Amino acid sequence: MQIIEISLKNDSYFMIKYNLKCNNNHEFESWFSDSEEFNKLNKKKLLECIYCSSNKIEKSIMAPMISGMKLNQESVNILDKKLLKEKKELIKLREHIEKNFEFVGDKLSKKIRDIYYDKDTKKSIYGTATPEERKELAEEGIDLLSIPWVSKDN
Ligand SMILES: [Zn+2]
Repeated sequence: MQIIEISLKNDSYFMIKYNLKCNNNHEFESWFSDSEEFNKLNKKKLLECIYCSSNKIEKSIMAPMISGMKLNQESVNILDKKLLKEKKELIKLREHIEKNFEFVGDKLSKKIRDIYYDKDTKKSIYGTATPEERKELAEEGIDLLSIPWVSKDN
């Protein structure tokens, strides 16, 4: 498993964690970019219970978890732990990032600075950063979010 770093420049970008419940009363969590995405997937019966595969899903409580640059280390750690448990969700998250973020590979720390210091650019990028780069960025007040990058095909 690879760790990918993402930079969330646009403060209005966030993902929402929903607590979901199936018709057999199983509760689980899932991540969506917004409530519309949840509604769309649910309508198409693309959501299913992780325990019994029922696709009669409803959402219980909404808990926004990622919020742009305002993440602190503690919430990142909690997030990492939670995400590690849920590979299915990670794959969804990966697909979401691939669709909505620009991949910049190991040029991440350079690109982040370009974006960060150009106030007009609202862009979300992802790529890899070394621990040193990460530390330098943190000193400049730029937080990265680490995402365990799971492979889709195992
Ligand atoms: Zn179920």
